[in-house]
Amino acid sequence: MKFEDLSRYFLRLEATTKRLEMFDILSDAFSKADSRDIAKTVYLMQEELLPPFFNVQLGVADRMVEKAIADAYHVDLKVIKSSNKKTGDLGEVAEKYNGSDKKSSLSVSEVYDKIFDMTRLSGEGSVEAKINVLSSLLRKVSALESKYIIRFVMGKLRLGVGEATIMEALSKAKTGDRKFKPDLERAFNLCSDLGYVANVFYEKGEDGIRRFEVQVMRPIRPALAERLPSAEEIIKKLGKCAVDQKFDGFRAQVHKNGDDVKIFSRNLEEITHFMPEIVAAVKRLNHRSMIFDGEALTYDEDTGTLYAFHITIQRKRKHNIEETSEKFPLRLFVFDMMLLDGRDLMNEPYIKRRELIDKTFGGDAAISKSRFIITDDSKELTKFFDETIGAGLEGVVAKKLDAPYSAGARNFNWIKIKRSYKSQLSDTIDVVILGYFKGRGMRADFGVGAVLGGVYNDKRDVFETITKVGSGFSEAQFKELRKMLDDVKVTHKPARVDSMIEPDIWTEPRYVITVKADEITRSPMHTCGMKDEVGYALRFPRAVSFVRTDKRPEDSNTTKDIVEMFNNQKKVELKD
Ligand code: ATP
Repeated sequence: MKFEDLSRYFLRLEATTKRLEMFDILSDAFSKADSRDIAKTVYLMQEELLPPFFNVQLGVADRMVEKAIADAYHVDLKVIKSSNKKTGDLGEVAEKYNGSDKKSSLSVSEVYDKIFDMTRLSGEGSVEAKINVLSSLLRKVSALESKYIIRFVMGKLRLGVGEATIMEALSKAKTGDRKFKPDLERAFNLCSDLGYVANVFYEKGEDGIRRFEVQVMRPIRPALAERLPSAEEIIKKLGKCAVDQKFDGFRAQVHKNGDDVKIFSRNLEEITHFMPEIVAAVKRLNHRSMIFDGEALTYDEDTGTLYAFHITIQRKRKHNIEETSEKFPLRLFVFDMMLLDGRDLMNEPYIKRRELIDKTFGGDAAISKSRFIITDDSKELTKFFDETIGAGLEGVVAKKLDAPYSAGARNFNWIKIKRSYKSQLSDTIDVVILGYFKGRGMRADFGVGAVLGGVYNDKRDVFETITKVGSGFSEAQFKELRKMLDDVKVTHKPARVDSMIEPDIWTEPRYVITVKADEITRSPMHTCGMKDEVGYALRFPRAVSFVRTDKRPEDSNTTKDIVEMFNNQKKVELKD
């Protein structure tokens, strides 16, 4: 496919406010791609060069782009700068000074590869070199293409396309039918790389995608836990189950291939360099290849106790990792295993995987395993829960004995019960910011008075509104929020947002915050779970976290979670 054609699809995507239309545009675009350029097309639609775990960085700043545009179109740099100040969109500036409506003949792959070349430049002279690569590319393309190239390199494409919609569109484009979406989803959950999945689908067809397996060094999308309010409900749901200690640290998915070790976070960034002591311990394990899942925490060797979460989290902010790792060493508590010596364990029953964990780990200070019991008795479960809480841990996770590893899914194969669940709606809710309302009175100074929050409806692949949050942020946080949100503001409601409320400023759904509320209520104003014109809303919401860097928008709570929490809340009320 020509990059000019892709740019025309970008133009259409940008203009749409409806998800279904977005789906049609995407499937049309994907039907024009072949196996050589489908992966790159998908990455560009997702506004990335590669998935986050590859850690490729473009490292492009405003100044560099301004210079590249000035060089490419022989315009005075001052003119470009003032034009940027006026429009706030260097994409538009490039389009204006390019001025050419002649199609370029560059393909999607050629443009992608040129942009990718910039990631290989580092060190002395790299700024100049990047400017040269970009300006020479800008010289070869039409006005429309230059707009999207610039927006892409600046991370400001803002098409708002979701993974679920991409997969549905790929299925339709390749086979004329949407029915292969679940197969694509399964493959995506196993490797977290949608471009790669698209390539396998285009090259090897439906069969290839059905045979897709986990691969060492490609992160599996983590299994997630559902929640229930009491031990009785857990036993009613699972019957005999394993009940594991729940640790409050960093989720870490470890991959080992010979002497190579990689560790991935919950949101699939590579965090290997934060955990040298765990990497060393994994290298000592006598297994050729492994993938396992656990939680890493700082552990006091002298007293045998775990440090609080805030000590563990310091690790990510510290520069001197080696020193920190001596003072506050991490210990990884392994709670699942997905591959061992080339054997895929994803579909083995949990109890089998757990037996393998018990055989494989032990005796190393840096790698340990969670303690668990097996029970079908709610009293025994409650006793274990109380003991675990008494030992300073966060709670327990009950696990279905015969369940496979549910990559990328939140379901009742794992059920968490935390310390705070006992009181009514004491659990927090993660919402995505969809826009903001300008402040009044004192808040006018901050620029943001409240944010519009939504949750993810994974069935519809849209974000539905549930609340307006105006308290819980400090003055400094409001100001910071304003900057962050203005950086992702859009001119109209994004196609994947379902809202009856119109904020002053719409933003791309990007940032997740954690809120606490007194209650979930029914409301005609919010679209979350809306049926017969009544949705769900939060009563007295307040933010209890600033923007969560460990969660993507689709990792916010889902509409389904909210309905469940609402129902559980009613049960608690009845009992009281
Ligand atoms: P979630 O990760 O489910 O979106 P969250 O980030 O708020 O929600 P929690 O609700 O605290 O996290 O619970 C799930 C997390 O608990 C897992 O992602 C994992 O990191 C952690 N965890 C700790 N111990 C265990 C265990 N034994 N089994 C499974 N998960 C565990």
